[in-house]
Amino acid sequence: MATKKTEETPEQVAQPAGMFETARENLRIACEKLNIHPDVYEELQFPRETLAVTLLIRMDDGRRRAFKAWRCRYNDRRGPTKGGVRFHPNVSLDEVETLSFWMTFKCAVANLPFGGGKGGVCVDTKTLSPTELERLSRAYIEAFASFIGPDRDIMAPDMYTNGIVMAWMSDEYASITGAPLPMAITGKPIAFGGTTGRTDATARGGYLALRHLESSLGLEPDKATVAIQGFGNVGYHCAKLLHADGYKIVAISDSSGAIHDPDGLDPLAVMEHKHSNHGVTGAKGHGKTRKISNEELLELDCDVLVPAALERQITEENAGRIRAPIILEMANGPITPEADAILTEAGCVIIPDILANSGGVTVSHLEWVQNRSGFYWDGSRVRDHLKTTMTTETQAVWALHNEMDLSMREAAYVHGLRRIAEAVEARGTQAYFEQ
Ligand code: NAD
Repeated sequence: MATKKTEETPEQVAQPAGMFETARENLRIACEKLNIHPDVYEELQFPRETLAVTLLIRMDDGRRRAFKAWRCRYNDRRGPTKGGVRFHPNVSLDEVETLSFWMTFKCAVANLPFGGGKGGVCVDTKTLSPTELERLSRAYIEAFASFIGPDRDIMAPDMYTNGIVMAWMSDEYASITGAPLPMAITGKPIAFGGTTGRTDATARGGYLALRHLESSLGLEPDKATVAIQGFGNVGYHCAKLLHADGYKIVAISDSSGAIHDPDGLDPLAVMEHKHSNHGVTGAKGHGKTRKISNEELLELDCDVLVPAALERQITEENAGRIRAPIILEMANGPITPEADAILTEAGCVIIPDILANSGGVTVSHLEWVQNRSGFYWDGSRVRDHLKTTMTTETQAVWALHNEMDLSMREAAYVHGLRRIAEAVEARGTQAYFEQ
């Protein structure tokens, strides 16, 4: 985490709006189309509970700063809610509720015994020192201690929160509850009860989904080209796994800019350059590497585009210029609904976020299981389980896509919705109570 300080306050940053209304409207349409029992829409249209608080933090220079924070438990019909906690200046109530809605579906698509949750703090972590970040992380737990819990709401890292933040949070939770309860928080360092295989789990899940669909999509690894937006945890591991299988990584970007090399880039070499130069720009590939903009990267002529950075990167404005026929959505919500319609109409196959990046929560589930049993698995057992889950669920979504003539995104939502609906209907519907 950077330690540079600025005077930015939460009020100065733009807040995204209306995402939750869009998600709710899409749900209504899906329920109607699928003839899902009205009880299900009635229940799923709003979050079960959201808690909003203000965290008051003493800064290193003695000042007091206030940070808005939220935690949402969207739906717990399939089990305790599960979802990350995000530290970002754009975090808002709308965003937290939308992300927890998506988590509800992601957990159902991956067939995990979890509902969906999410949390966040409206903060630019670049304005905090490490000690201020620790105080903020601990304050978050103090504020939400009665809201979360191993059988209620399980937290995990998300944007600008990482293993050490989870360790501070887990530590704080243990002080409050009076006993270590590592299963309340996943994504912890291994020495703190974390699991092997979590670091690259999200990327590996997407990679396994793509590999499973290779022949259906007509992809030949030794001929296919890939452009990757975002070179953090997910983007880097995705690039590394695909590169090892022969895919040619022709472009990579991060917040410093983008590089393009038609002769291919070596993800390891690019990561080494990023470490010593604070960004990917300037790294050399196998041919004439040139610097391009992030916008250009998205519009490159390549076989697979992997957005692995932020939300809303492909919009109505640039969707018409996207040339990749396959998009592996590793970030959450990188394509707006308007752009999704344009791309789908143009024949682009989008492997949607709720399937493509579900590998992370799948392995987090294993961390929760191991914490509960006190028996820890080796890496190969974790990877085998992930492979089985990703292959099974990708196949199920692909089958629905073909059988019902749906886009992959619609098929993934249908797949998840059916499972959630079963859990709602299992408690009885109007027809049962009218008898
Ligand atoms: P990260 O913070 O490790 O990496 C993000 C990367 O995006 C960084 O390289 C950053 O420089 C880059 N970036 C930021 N702004 C950019 C821009 N405008 N253009 C190009 N690159 C930019 O985050 P991560 O864990 O790799 O997560 C990436 C995405 O995947 C997020 O949307 C996250 O919600 C999603 N996701 C992550 C996980 C996980 O397990 N890490 C799980 C599910 C979903």
